[in-house]
Amino acid sequence: MTYQSPRRSTTEQNAGASSASLLNELAYNPRELARQLSFSRREFLRAAAGVTLGGTLLSSGMLARSGVPQKKRKVVVITFGGGARDQETFAPEGQENIPHLMRDLIPQSTFFTQVVNRGILGHYVATASLATGVYETINNFASLPPEHPTAFEYFRKDLKRPSSDAWVVAPSNGFNRIGESSHRAYGPGLGARVILPKHLLTAATSGGGADYEHLLRDNYETPFYTPELSGSEFELQQLEMLLKLSVDDFKKHALTLSSPDELSVYIARQLMRQLAPSLLWITMHDIDIAHAGAYSLYIEGIRRTDRLCADLWKTIQTEPEYAGNTTVFILPDFGRDSDDDSGGNGFQHHRTGDALSRTTWMMAMGAGVREGIVVDRALESTDLVPSIGSILGFSASQAQGKPIVELT
Ligand SMILES: [Zn+2]
Repeated sequence: MTYQSPRRSTTEQNAGASSASLLNELAYNPRELARQLSFSRREFLRAAAGVTLGGTLLSSGMLARSGVPQKKRKVVVITFGGGARDQETFAPEGQENIPHLMRDLIPQSTFFTQVVNRGILGHYVATASLATGVYETINNFASLPPEHPTAFEYFRKDLKRPSSDAWVVAPSNGFNRIGESSHRAYGPGLGARVILPKHLLTAATSGGGADYEHLLRDNYETPFYTPELSGSEFELQQLEMLLKLSVDDFKKHALTLSSPDELSVYIARQLMRQLAPSLLWITMHDIDIAHAGAYSLYIEGIRRTDRLCADLWKTIQTEPEYAGNTTVFILPDFGRDSDDDSGGNGFQHHRTGDALSRTTWMMAMGAGVREGIVVDRALESTDLVPSIGSILGFSASQAQGKPIVELT
């Protein structure tokens, strides 16, 4: 089977029309492009991973049948972070970069082929939008909290959970305010605790971080933006107390890690073992190294993210607090620009806001989720939080999205 980009195959199907006018038509018709993309993903997945055709609605809730009482349920969200295109992931020529997703995870998941992000395509603001279920409009490069309540706040306030029960592991210091919003009915004291592994490592090495430079670059877009930290960032002295990790062991282990995302996963694992939060959010970011313009590093980032997702899934299945009662979501914050745009080098940035960079996917797996199912209908990024609410038992009252019926 040969991969044809959605644009190209549409062009071929309409051989009588000029390709320029069709490209224009698709550029102005993101819905049609998204439909083509989801069709392609469905075909690739079915061919490569042997998943079944999904789409039939459940007659009753799977979670009830899974037999896990609501108060024991856990949710782990992993953002396949930094933006990757189909060409390097789900298209036939890209599948070699995501062997774990293709072979291990997708057959165990319900896969949503079409998740559209209609918000701002900056990593912090897009991740904040995923966490609130509202397209946030805060400045991506300012140390500001989301304006609408986060999933963590709904969860803790509605269910009266302690602060140890909701955590975020975030890739850069710019994410330090993501745990709780500025909303007056929620906000300070009701959100998630945020761990910034790089901040932790900087503190642990007290400025003498030459050996750790490969882990410490804060982001790939604005090297000079490193916000002053305030709010709920993790304090170094809690490393030993909460994570049961001595500063020396932490530093020693960090030396063996090749990337910031590996550092995040290492910390996330420690969190799961020591505190076992019921709502855990891990944001990956290595793929965004694409901004540097090196295609090989971008591919390496995708391959690493693929492996780390599988590692986390394995951890979840083997940690007694998580095994059997955890629902996992894996989804990108958004995609990257299309190579078809004039100016080229599409893998490098996510500036144009074109339909390809807005149309992504999501996998759900674990407790209460049907395996080997593909769902084609369009979801929005904002549907995630209400869906987590249905699983954990809170109401995301201000979210714009809706609970995903295939999961509730
Ligand atoms: Zn970026």
